[in-house]
Amino acid sequence: MTGTFRVTLLASLAAASVVIPATVIFAQNAPPPDHPAVTVKGQTYTPRSILARNMGTDADQTSQFPPHKVIGNIYYVGTRTLSSYLITTPQGHILINSTYERNVPVIQKSVADLGFRFSDIKIILGTHAHGDHQEGDAAVKQATGAQVMAMEQDVPALRNIKPGGKEHPIDSTFNDGKQVQLGGVTLTAHLTPGHTRGCTTWTMAVQDGGRAYNVVFACSLRAPGTISPEVAAEFAGTYPKFRALPCDVPLGDHPAQYNMIEKHARLANGAPSPFIDPANCTVEADIQEAMFKATLAEQQSAAK
Ligand SMILES: [Zn+2]
Repeated sequence: MTGTFRVTLLASLAAASVVIPATVIFAQNAPPPDHPAVTVKGQTYTPRSILARNMGTDADQTSQFPPHKVIGNIYYVGTRTLSSYLITTPQGHILINSTYERNVPVIQKSVADLGFRFSDIKIILGTHAHGDHQEGDAAVKQATGAQVMAMEQDVPALRNIKPGGKEHPIDSTFNDGKQVQLGGVTLTAHLTPGHTRGCTTWTMAVQDGGRAYNVVFACSLRAPGTISPEVAAEFAGTYPKFRALPCDVPLGDHPAQYNMIEKHARLANGAPSPFIDPANCTVEADIQEAMFKATLAEQQSAAK
């Protein structure tokens, strides 16, 4: 989801002084519908409530969330509602999700607040080609010289993300199963398409407190309001594939997907990470698959 589109559309409408039927403007600007509703683990969701949960307010999208260690060498450096992760190694760091370009100084500050150097970022990865997750890639690359690596299927959509007219940098592309290695860290890319064609869920093993844990950086699993047959087929493969990933620590590209704020409040020195939560590794998939199926059913009955 991107917040800038609405503004751009209104500005161009005003500039063109074209009379557009109100229904068109409504369709482009309206929040998603408040139906269907699905209930998972006693909690009821609609497309509108999920989007609100993910994005929060404009201020939530751009305000620093206290940067913190998640587990092992993984740190949270994002805003209140847009995740950005720093994975540190002795040979430099990996950044997953630059978020909006205007957030890059926020991420830079979070990295510094944790005592790391932004200029030590060597590799920029992303979960998916939407502006709220990867618009800042060019700015981070400019500041660090890091390499931007992208899932092949997301390249066309990434090329369309051009803040201020800047080309989206892509230094190399990869496919499903790619292992990205740096300084003893291995991140594995899993193609989990649907939300975008190249939606990438990353997995990584970490050591913490003498134990090993599997971490999952989930790509958004949220279906659009209107689901094409191609996208339906992608999601049909993605949900079971996602559930099969080894997981002790579920993370996501929006913090609400894994209850970050509630878990962060439980962080305590010397205690096991509150982000270790194997019981909730698939809850986001459960919510999104229920909504996907309900939306498809609604769509099919409307078409009859
Ligand atoms: Zn998205």
